[in-house]
Amino acid sequence: MSTVRHARVLVVGGGQAGLAAGYHLRRAELDFAILDASPGPGGAWQHYWDTLRLFSPAAYASLPGRPMPHQAGGEYPDAAHVAAYLADYEKRYDLPVQRSVRVERIERGPHGLTARTDAGTWHADALVMATGTWERPFIPAIPGTASFTGRQLHTHGYRTAADFTGRRVLVVGGGNSGAQIAADLAPTATVRWATPRPPRFLPDDIDGRALFDLATRRVQGDGTGISTLGDIVAVDPVRRARDTGLLHAHPMFERLTPAGPRWSDGSTWECDAVVWCTGFRPDLAPLAPLALRAPGGRIPTDGTRSLQDGRIHLLGYGDWTGPASATLIGVGRTARTAVAEISGLLR
Ligand code: FAD
Repeated sequence: MSTVRHARVLVVGGGQAGLAAGYHLRRAELDFAILDASPGPGGAWQHYWDTLRLFSPAAYASLPGRPMPHQAGGEYPDAAHVAAYLADYEKRYDLPVQRSVRVERIERGPHGLTARTDAGTWHADALVMATGTWERPFIPAIPGTASFTGRQLHTHGYRTAADFTGRRVLVVGGGNSGAQIAADLAPTATVRWATPRPPRFLPDDIDGRALFDLATRRVQGDGTGISTLGDIVAVDPVRRARDTGLLHAHPMFERLTPAGPRWSDGSTWECDAVVWCTGFRPDLAPLAPLALRAPGGRIPTDGTRSLQDGRIHLLGYGDWTGPASATLIGVGRTARTAVAEISGLLR
């Protein structure tokens, strides 16, 4: 017989968002558990490519309570440093993370909310979804994708430029991942970087600190957006590749042929691989039985709280759950508000 357990608040996901929720739940003295599908700590930071750099210095990438330590050798920490920081964070605050437990379905029932997992059932009075986006890579529907005979992978599967030495690689996507992966590949592979619109680098002296400051101003009612300045943070490897002329952007192609991309003017390029740096989608499948989604769209929220079911909060995912909620420094603020609302509901 499968086990049944109870927590007043159940947090689904033990990455940075789940840990930030745990920190505030602990402070609010609420009984809670964090269920995490991953066997190890660090959420998605365990899986990023080797040379990824944060777009903010450590001090501007901290969860509540404990500053991220500086990483020797550079102002912008790498992903392994963040994963180690998150592992230390959950230990320091003794957060009750249960690992290798995947929540499969969340249902309403006589005992409040019921989470069916691959390791038994949990009942809870309130629930924080913090499953991130890593497990739902997004590739746009572009004609001919299935016909391409080379290798295709998404940011999700990219680990190191060494896998592509001497190859011709098409990198697709004009955001930070596209810029960083194109810069990573450019010294050892022949790269074409296809972007839907010309890439817009932020001024070199602007990094994630400014993104957060702008998000803060938005919270305070000043509507200024970072998009007026650009999209891509010029972290060192990107800046170096750009300044040495290695980072050439091309317009978006019209279709893929078996050999490579074809542009609307008829020009083509033969390549060995395509790396899709085209983003991720929120990983909210376990909530499907609750039918929280607006028709054809995302789950409507007021801040983090579902409008359909006020016991459920969504943390992380993107700005729609709170300004900068999907960043290390921003998620603490939305976690605090979410936990305050949950405390109010349960007391
Ligand atoms: P995740 O880190 O993905 O954690 C979610 C956890 O939930 C995982 O451990 C997963 O196993 C678990 N989970 C998923 N489904 C289930 C389930 N059904 N049941 C139980 N557990 C489940 N942010 C910054 O602040 N600075 C940066 O420089 C930065 N760079 C980024 C670079 C890239 C390439 C990407 C993709 C994102 C970057 N971000 C950055 C954004 C953001 O900080 C990360 O995406 C971060 O990992 C999001 O944290 P999270 O806790 O929401 O999700």
